[in-house]
Amino acid sequence: MAGFPIEFATRIKTLPPYLFAAIDKMKQEAIARGVDIINLGVGDPDLPTPAPIIERMKLAAAEARNHQYPSYEGLLSFRQAVAGWYKRRFGVTLDPATEVLTLIGSKEGIGHVPLAFIDPGDVVLVPSPGYPVYPVATGFAGGTSYIMPLKKEHRFLPNLAAIPKDIAKQAKLLFLNSPNNPTSVVADKDYFKKVVAFAQEHQIIVCHDAAYSEIYYDGQPPASFLEVEGAKEVGVEFHSLSKTFNMTGWRIGFAVGNKQVLAGLGKVKSNLDSGVFQAVQEAGITALESGDYLVDGLRKIYQERRDVFVPGLRQLGLDVELPPAAFYVWIGVPNGYTSASFTAHLLEKTGIVSTPGNGFGEPGEGYIRMTLTTSKERLAEALERMRKTGF
Ligand SMILES: *Cc1c(COP(=O)(O)O)cnc(C)c1O
Repeated sequence: MAGFPIEFATRIKTLPPYLFAAIDKMKQEAIARGVDIINLGVGDPDLPTPAPIIERMKLAAAEARNHQYPSYEGLLSFRQAVAGWYKRRFGVTLDPATEVLTLIGSKEGIGHVPLAFIDPGDVVLVPSPGYPVYPVATGFAGGTSYIMPLKKEHRFLPNLAAIPKDIAKQAKLLFLNSPNNPTSVVADKDYFKKVVAFAQEHQIIVCHDAAYSEIYYDGQPPASFLEVEGAKEVGVEFHSLSKTFNMTGWRIGFAVGNKQVLAGLGKVKSNLDSGVFQAVQEAGITALESGDYLVDGLRKIYQERRDVFVPGLRQLGLDVELPPAAFYVWIGVPNGYTSASFTAHLLEKTGIVSTPGNGFGEPGEGYIRMTLTTSKERLAEALERMRKTGF
């Protein structure tokens, strides 16, 4: 039988080309040649999930009551643990019944939220460079992304004043991300206040991605968007246990804040997924109730790595700031290179894998991203190789 051409739908046919394909190919070739690759490309914690969380998971997995479909909004006990954590960490009061929603990782919630609020043709304000899910999910819902370029002269924060009035008027939703991937920049409360005022003025739903709020340095915890007055009236915050507790593989996160926004997101979810394995939620309770003792050690490890790596890069003459949070290092490419050519050059000459900044959106051109999810010895080795080759 001849079959017939099986065509992808327009929404996936028109996805931006996979910018990392070229670098992946070069990486595979280097590995085949026997090059000892130092992978500073992936944003996935290299350390294991802390033991008390795993122990709770083992017990919870053995419980028959956890083997059935979970409730779609999540265990009330998990949502209470989230509310308790928000109170302790940010001083923010949440109603666990209506202001907390369990997610299958925050990516899931971020990916689904436009389906609840965006009609074809609606505008979504998207920071760029940024997490690719924001524009892609917008497109899946039929919306149009309006790119807010993150520029050095505005501390890599979206410049709300530069958004044209007619765009602001059409916009229904705004994505924000602090601490930021890929720049590691942290927005302060004054900035969040501006966001709330802007959202109120133009009636825009704010979706703040706070996946990295617990990975911070020098004892300076970033604020929650919800700490600012009026934030709960305009938006929600997405959170995740992935980065905080080395749980990327477990798939658990949550959204908190405006009940109407959570109700819409919950409605989409209840039609597409059936919630998070309850045993994983129980392990999540252990994580959230552990206080800081599980995360403190982790912060210390990342900070040590940062303090070896970033000053070393600066000594090499690279344009890079000390990140105050997250585990990314955002490096300006030297003169004569583009993001892609510098990434290729590093891989070719030093065996270091990095990510070209334009992979996170065109405004990321001129930068590369490296990660701190590798041991300090390997980071020192990376510096040494760059020094020897003059990058
Ligand atoms: C890692 C990451 C997330 C979290 O993803 P999970 O689905 O919770 O594992 C969300 N936003 C950004 C910007 C990230 O880098």
